Amino acid sequence: MSRMDGKVAVITGGASGIGRACALRFSEEGASVVVADLNPDRAEAVAAEITDLGREATWTQVDTADADQNEAMADAAVAAFGRLDACVAAAGISHAGYVSREISDQVGQDSWQGGDQWLLAKTVDSWQRVLDVNLTGVMLTNQSAARRMRDGGGGAIVNIASVAGLMALPGGADYCVSKAGVWMLTRCAALELNRYGIRVNAVAPGYIRTPMTAFMTHSDEWVRGRERETPVGRLGEPDDIANACLYLCSDEASFVTGEIICADGGLAADIR
Ligand code: NAD
Repeated sequence: MSRMDGKVAVITGGASGIGRACALRFSEEGASVVVADLNPDRAEAVAAEITDLGREATWTQVDTADADQNEAMADAAVAAFGRLDACVAAAGISHAGYVSREISDQVGQDSWQGGDQWLLAKTVDSWQRVLDVNLTGVMLTNQSAARRMRDGGGGAIVNIASVAGLMALPGGADYCVSKAGVWMLTRCAALELNRYGIRVNAVAPGYIRTPMTAFMTHSDEWVRGRERETPVGRLGEPDDIANACLYLCSDEASFVTGEIICADGGLAADIR
């Protein structure tokens, strides 16, 4: 018996990085998976990766910042597999110009660590887009998933936060504020949704090798610096986060709700 046998999971941001790792890992443990992402081509490709392995998956396009699209995504899960048991809200952006791998490769380090990302140069539009996707989007995904889970008798939600919700990053005020919001959203949602048998937790990753961080991990100097900063001495891999999400969505975590697990190699241990 695998840990997610018979369960249906929606993974937002499922086309890349941490979300893709969750989709693959959950399906490996028996879940039927809906890969939901803004990027339809990559979402379809990840779903095909899973079905090619003889497991159940489908995909849907969603902009998680849009309430109606979250509702359609949750409906698609129920239409495809009859129920919804688990949801990982992994869709996110590092800054307003970042949408997907292509753009990550283009922008270069300056746009995260300086220039137009610094507070004095922020526009309302760029600030708002980060909050819309990373915070409001997670709330809307939680809402749509929880409505189906309530109707189905329960479930488990995991929000992907970040240690950046605790650690202030120069040039990343919008990102840090959005992730701090996810920490608190998770705790409030856990208290509210408990009555419906729905657990809500978060995973706060440290530095993880994904397309989102590719423009920084290209630099050996940057990688060495983060390795020194991280107590376990390495960057994280997407599976490090997927494994934490898997635990939180499985019945092994039936007594865990309102928790934020820092899967960060100890990065935030001294400030928690
Ligand atoms: P990624 O860019 O590889 O994947 C993010 C995915 O989200 C992409 O497929 C993208 O198309 C999708 N997406 C973006 N905006 C969307 C929207 N509005 N609606 C639907 N999908 C959308 O990045 P990742 O590193 O895998 O990041 C996943 C999550 O983990 C994000 O929330 C990120 O903030 C968080 N995180 C990442 C790190 C890290 O070091 N990589 C650290 C802490 C937290």
